[in-house]
Amino acid sequence: MMMNISNRIFCIALLISTFTVVGCGTGVNLLSKSDDIQLGQKMQAQIAADPAHYPVLNNPNVTSYIQGIVNTIVSSPNVKNKDFRYVATVINDDKTVNAFAVPGGPIYVYTGLLKFIDNEATLAGILAHEITHVDHRHSSEQISQQYGLQILSSVIVGQTANNGILSQIVEYTTAAGGALASLRFSRNDERDADKTSFEDLMALPGRPWYPAGIKYFMIKTVPMEGKGSTSFSKNFSTHPPSQERLDAVNKQAKDAKLPEPNENQLKSGELQRMKAML
Ligand SMILES: [Zn+2]
Repeated sequence: MMMNISNRIFCIALLISTFTVVGCGTGVNLLSKSDDIQLGQKMQAQIAADPAHYPVLNNPNVTSYIQGIVNTIVSSPNVKNKDFRYVATVINDDKTVNAFAVPGGPIYVYTGLLKFIDNEATLAGILAHEITHVDHRHSSEQISQQYGLQILSSVIVGQTANNGILSQIVEYTTAAGGALASLRFSRNDERDADKTSFEDLMALPGRPWYPAGIKYFMIKTVPMEGKGSTSFSKNFSTHPPSQERLDAVNKQAKDAKLPEPNENQLKSGELQRMKAML
């Protein structure tokens, strides 16, 4: 359900005043959690209807392998919104080294990313990063900033979420370049996702993966940055520079006094077995 009108008017007032004072990055969210789920379902349907851009890999073994890692991460005490539907889909596109999540839970991983990385701890770190975008509701925060006034006016004229602004937002955000067009997180969102990825994995009972595993992705991408690789262009344009991300995760690992990982925490063998199925 959408939040009630007085709540929303309060939020929009806060949004406007905060814009005036500090500009973007307010953290104000005008959408409810069920709006996130609805929005995500609509985007999921559009992705499913566009196999030319999003060819889904039909390999239940690979999908359930990814889903198992997602489920374990979501069980972390550090994940707040456990009622979102964190469902993994693998996109069969070796040229794209990326993963993304849509509001409310659906998570997409490209085969290009799976082939690029070297161990399961890195995959867990990347999936925890995507789970954070969902869990911390970064998309609907961005939408609240971009469409705040329209959301408020839709409330004033009495439109509901289903037939009003939410549909318009979905149409607008998916019209130009597919669903990914709507996933323009701020760099602060990206920093939050990296930081929380580490914390989610740190808090997991038994700590099945080295919590700083995402750093191996960054170590590989630092030398490639700025070299015009199309596989990475989307990734690089929306994330802080890899070196900055790497420095931040190294600092987290150092502050937590994490020892260097062994194979039990990297699980490269598990990842290689999955890769052999691709
Ligand atoms: Zn991200």
